[in-house]
Amino acid sequence: MTVEELSKIPGVDFLKDTGLSRFTTIRLKVFGDLAIVSYIEALKKTIAKCRESETRYHLLGWGANQVLSSSDNTLFIKLKFDLNRDVFKSVQEKYTLPASTPLNVLQGHAQKFGLKGWEVITGIPASLGGAIYMNAGTALGEICEIVESVSILQPDGEIRTEKIGPESFSYRKNKFVKNGEIIIGATLIHRGQDPEIGRKIKEYMSFRKRTQPLSSFNCGCVWKNYDQNHKAGLFIDKLKLNLLKFNTMEVSDKHCNFLENKGGASFDDFKALIELSQEELLLHSGIKFELEAKIY
Ligand SMILES: Cc1cc2nc3c(=O)[nH]c(=O)nc-3n(C[C@H](O)[C@H](O)[C@H](O)COP(=O)(O)OP(=O)(O)OC[C@H]3O[C@@H](n4cnc5c(N)ncnc54)[C@H](O)[C@@H]3O)c2cc1C
Repeated sequence: MTVEELSKIPGVDFLKDTGLSRFTTIRLKVFGDLAIVSYIEALKKTIAKCRESETRYHLLGWGANQVLSSSDNTLFIKLKFDLNRDVFKSVQEKYTLPASTPLNVLQGHAQKFGLKGWEVITGIPASLGGAIYMNAGTALGEICEIVESVSILQPDGEIRTEKIGPESFSYRKNKFVKNGEIIIGATLIHRGQDPEIGRKIKEYMSFRKRTQPLSSFNCGCVWKNYDQNHKAGLFIDKLKLNLLKFNTMEVSDKHCNFLENKGGASFDDFKALIELSQEELLLHSGIKFELEAKIY
């Protein structure tokens, strides 16, 4: 696939061999080809071009749970669909929104109108598509609780609608997006209004600010908790693994399930730190903790 071919597609902003660090929150240095896509037709054409040229593609949401290691023969795709903000001027029965909608816009709306159920997304840095892919959640619940349906672009260019049911998600995981499929939008529901929700969101947000490194370069929780009694952070703390570091990749002082890039850290630093931590955790707890962060 040539630069010219992608650049010619209306609605695609193509960046050849660009720095991808600013597209992930952990900011590791990686270069690669990126297509910023503004609407569905453009996305269909982009993936058709990838298919023709046997180029892999990989979605970047806000890059808040991703660690990029390589960019070989890959086109990174970021959605930047138009968002009609008028829907947030009042309360709707349902919200059909593009996958690129920032979660903080939804949080602001929920806080203002006290939307019941939407408190679950408080403080999660994400695009709607990335949050649904990951079934993002907090101590207040998971996003799956407010998703009615998800629109998906299949690799063959067809769009299907996935009706969400009790089996659609598990902890930090969706069970319906198949390889090569792209979430393009979703319909969200709520359970009415309650002024208490606004207060709950505000309180939970200040709790997060106190307990999580929200402004450093990190990728959120690195490890999935095994269960409520076996949280990765507790073991890391107990074993003093928070003292480990590789070059400028360190365990956060604020929350030991977060790794922070203190400036200029590489993927190798990240990898070395997680491999060492995983070995120690297995040896001392008997649990092989799984990564929550996605490595590509
Ligand atoms: C400071 C901080 C705090 C965090 N706190 C939380 C928290 O409390 N709870 C929580 O659950 N997470 C948390 N996270 C992690 C992160 O915010 C979530 O996992 C979030 O859902 C990631 O969304 P994203 O848009 O950034 O997706 P990305 O990280 O960009 O992508 C995640 C995965 O989804 C895929 N993907 C993204 N968009 C699409 C799409 N449109 N179609 C198909 N696949 C797609 C990607 O390819 C990747 O595999 C935190 C992260 C940070 C940096």
